[in-house]
Amino acid sequence: MHIVQPGMEIDVLKENGKIAAENYRLMKSRGIKSVDFMGSIGAGKTALIIKLAEKLKARGVRVCAIAGDVTGADDYGRFSRAGLEAVNCNTGHECHLDANLVRKTLSKMDLDAYDVIFIENVGNLVCPADFPLGTDYRVVVVSTTEGDDMVRKHHDIFLHSDIAILNKIDIADAVDVNPEVILEDYKRLTGGNKKMITCSVKKETGLDEILSALKL
Ligand code: MG
Ligand code: ZN
Repeated sequence: MHIVQPGMEIDVLKENGKIAAENYRLMKSRGIKSVDFMGSIGAGKTALIIKLAEKLKARGVRVCAIAGDVTGADDYGRFSRAGLEAVNCNTGHECHLDANLVRKTLSKMDLDAYDVIFIENVGNLVCPADFPLGTDYRVVVVSTTEGDDMVRKHHDIFLHSDIAILNKIDIADAVDVNPEVILEDYKRLTGGNKKMITCSVKKETGLDEILSALKL
């Protein structure tokens, strides 16, 4: 949980913003492009990062993932087993990554060894929105299995993200969800100009569209 004492939260967010700007400058100074992947547990963030990284690696792009979780090394283990270089980043108690944790993690990495860093945030659709990490892009990933009301329930994270992705599009029928409802909600929320990208990580559809949205 993040701090909610009156007055304190503003300071915490301000401090986070300052450190995020430092992270951004640090990564830019090493020629690194970075992406923060946010979304609920089970949205498919880990699998998506693995697939995107595979495509980039095939083109000679050097990718590293930062696995953000409260405790444990499950996602770190999945990245490693998939052959993706990764660093584990446990928050301990917090339900989101913050810029300071990312700064500490970056300080342990050889930044000259990578062109792209994918950060997997803690599975949570609420407070990661408030804590930019200093990445080039912030991405929110939802899946059809979460129901059709994700955009309506979580305005902030969609408004704070540069790119929104709807995963598991291949099983929308099976889980009785009409993807058009989600796509329309997103379009309406973002003023009609932005389009949510649909994909199936499992069937490997929509991945190239995501990479091009990330200018990768
Ligand atoms: Mg994960
Ligand atoms: Zn949190």
